Amino acid sequence: MKIFFDIQNLRQYIRQIKLKEKSIGFVPTMGALHKGHLSLIRTSASQNDITICSIFVNPTQFNNPNDLNNYPRELENDISELEKTQCNAAFIPSVKAMYENDFILNFSFGYLENIMEGKYRPDHFKGVGLVVTKLFNLVTPDKAYFGSKDLQQLTLINKLCKELLFDIEIVAVSTVRESDGLAMSSRNNLLTEKERKNAAELYKALKVAKNKILDGENVVSVQKFITHYFDSLGTIKLEYFEIVNTTDLKRITDNIDLSKVSLCIAGHIGKVRLIDNISLN
Ligand code: AMP
Repeated sequence: MKIFFDIQNLRQYIRQIKLKEKSIGFVPTMGALHKGHLSLIRTSASQNDITICSIFVNPTQFNNPNDLNNYPRELENDISELEKTQCNAAFIPSVKAMYENDFILNFSFGYLENIMEGKYRPDHFKGVGLVVTKLFNLVTPDKAYFGSKDLQQLTLINKLCKELLFDIEIVAVSTVRESDGLAMSSRNNLLTEKERKNAAELYKALKVAKNKILDGENVVSVQKFITHYFDSLGTIKLEYFEIVNTTDLKRITDNIDLSKVSLCIAGHIGKVRLIDNISLN
């Protein structure tokens, strides 16, 4: 596996691949790789000649400096994990390489910035949009792979690609879970043993809510039920539980059309914030 720390060498590599008319699959990550990331890489390797994975803890998408400082960084282990996969190249740029000191460009995603993750993490998606655009410009992939676990991010990237006319197919990859259902996340490494056990409640609640809706219970009453459930549980501080249309993430307020619905959740377990979602269908 090739490893690029600087942009020039990556660009040269990409030029060579293009000359050979090989297809490129791209998997952007922030590192601390787990089986979820590896599933994205496996999917890319099965659909492209070349797979490139980036590892970059992007400062502009962190609204909270403590969160940025505490974000797990395990570069040595990440590289050795990547070596075991069919990943052809890792791109591991510095912050300096990715951002001008006095950068002024600013993305806006309209209503998508004001709901769910956007509401609780101001400017998060501006940072995501900016870094993904930079990475797309550098890697110029044919396909890029994103996890359904970050549903709002996926929605936003699809919109970004459409509106900026990127000729890139966005491929959504299913969420990989631990045996108790907890969605794999780099942030799970930050949980204490007890918190880790409690964290499974997020997925449990999603499943309870899904079954209630499928049994015909009104979506508004299910939303209230889940909110009260976490209030009484006391181990997870619920930030939001939303029942939304999977395509545009707009809130569902009645049971008339439940053909494309996702249940999205975010909560704090101790100092760690986790998100998850499941589809109703
Ligand atoms: P991150 O390193 O957390 O920014 O994630 C990089 C990519 O991996 C994103 O597209 C995530 O949605 C995806 N991802 C994270 N966790 C999982 C998971 N448990 N299953 C599948 N994909 C995931």
